[in-house]
Amino acid sequence: MIVIGGGINGTSTAQSLAAAGYTCLLVDKGDFGSGASARSARMLHPGLRYFEARNPVAHFGLHPGRLRDALRGAREAMQSVSEHLKDAGERIWPYRMCFPVYKGDAFKSWHVSAGIKLLEWLGDGSVPFDYERIRSDYEAKIPFIGDLRDVNSLEAIACYNEFKFDWPERFCIDMALDAERNGAVVVNHCQARLGARGADGSWAVSLADPNQPALESAVVTGRLVANMAGAWIDRVAPPSEPQNRCIQGTKGIHIVVEMPETYRGFGIASLNSLGEPHYVLPLHKTLYSIGVTETLFEGDPGEVTASDEEIDFLIAETNHLLPGRRLTRKDVLRSWAGVRPLTYSATAPKGSRARVLHDLEAKGYPGVLALTGGPIMTHRSAGRLVREAVAARLQPSRPQGKLNTAPFAFSESANSPPFLEDEPDVRIADLEVAVTAEHARSLDDVLFRRTGLAWRRALTDEDVDRAAEIVGPHLGWSPGDRAEAVAAFLRLQESTFRRPQG
Ligand SMILES: Cc1cc2nc3c(=O)[nH]c(=O)nc-3n(C[C@H](O)[C@H](O)[C@H](O)COP(=O)(O)OP(=O)(O)OC[C@H]3O[C@@H](n4cnc5c(N)ncnc54)[C@H](O)[C@@H]3O)c2cc1C
Repeated sequence: MIVIGGGINGTSTAQSLAAAGYTCLLVDKGDFGSGASARSARMLHPGLRYFEARNPVAHFGLHPGRLRDALRGAREAMQSVSEHLKDAGERIWPYRMCFPVYKGDAFKSWHVSAGIKLLEWLGDGSVPFDYERIRSDYEAKIPFIGDLRDVNSLEAIACYNEFKFDWPERFCIDMALDAERNGAVVVNHCQARLGARGADGSWAVSLADPNQPALESAVVTGRLVANMAGAWIDRVAPPSEPQNRCIQGTKGIHIVVEMPETYRGFGIASLNSLGEPHYVLPLHKTLYSIGVTETLFEGDPGEVTASDEEIDFLIAETNHLLPGRRLTRKDVLRSWAGVRPLTYSATAPKGSRARVLHDLEAKGYPGVLALTGGPIMTHRSAGRLVREAVAARLQPSRPQGKLNTAPFAFSESANSPPFLEDEPDVRIADLEVAVTAEHARSLDDVLFRRTGLAWRRALTDEDVDRAAEIVGPHLGWSPGDRAEAVAAFLRLQESTFRRPQG
């Protein structure tokens, strides 16, 4: 079994297959979790988003198909929140989401109440929403109420608990490592190319280091291939006709700003001027992320950054929601952008959010499965879905193992000092473990995905230099390699988190 793509859905698939006893190779052209899975809003939301529309009654009432997809997505989301609350508590954190609704809006606060009721009905009772529809005395309950637009025109503020992943890339690493513990071979920084199909039905897949094109590629064969390459799925298995494509990419951006203490523990949800979701979400300490945008995207998903126009759009929408913040470009500490690998649909101009497992046989790729439209939050059920589809075609070759969903602890080295004074939970030894036991090969592997430090604040030249000093000897770096690695990381940090001009 060959799994191409080590994002949240590919690593979950490899974990599930390896635990079920399949001989499995997981391969990613970059690092595990370096695609869309690193660029999300990180929401583990219980599914209310599936019902958000400017006029939900018309949106769903006139289109039963939309309602069916929304109910399915919401059920999967509720199941996912329950599962994560049970066994990944350290990496999931709750906050209080506030949804202000104004008199005269087509979207009413009872729509939120009905949505929450629906979610409770779809779930198993283990998700504590603590739902409240606040209709008066806002000052006592919402500490940042003074920033909100036209408080006298509020119909209500709907409040309920939501959850966030901290941070999804680490889930990818943990799942890849668990797959490895159960016998999978896991390889990052290695591009897979689907080759020919042999007489016995096996696929040849060539593997090459994208950074060293001169090296000869290796070839492996697999009875089945799971194409989990996200927005790159149609590049891995090109469609014969444009209408046979699997993926519709949409670009989404976020900005990061500092918010006052009055926002601590709260998030805000609303609909923007296009009728699409707009979120102000806690990120780390007093840092907040604001998003999101949604525009069609057809370019290289690896090259995507936030433009000044997109940043201005988010600033304007936030100032409409929270005029008291008076945000300007100068407040934007960083931005990030990503491409959602949504399901292509001839009838949905921005792609469909329905998660689909495609059997590509009819499209000329027998024995190749591909998953589209899978968000972060339902990655566990995505892994199970692929495993069940594989089980219908192939017997496992080894005894079953045990799938471990507990977050991996960092190094055992409790005596190791923190790497950064202001982030005491990440120790120097953790950086060493990243490169000696967790397949990290570069500073961005370590500082973005193994430790998450790059998400917490802008790392200085000095921080990065120290990180290189710690990991360099384990990676056999010469002083020249080290300087190059530091410079490459700083360039990447700047482009990933691009700040607007002016
Ligand atoms: C702006 C934005 C906000 C979002 N917010 C949320 C949210 O709040 N909550 C949520 O649940 N979801 C959210 N999502 C959606 C979520 O991020 C994606 O749906 C999910 O990460 C997709 O995961 P994936 O594993 O399918 O794809 P990816 O994470 O993109 O993984 C695909 C992997 O395949 C690899 N690959 C590609 N080609 C090859 C090849 N030839 N050989 C080897 N490897 C290859 C890539 O390097 C990549 O790592 C958001 C997405 C965006 C863009």
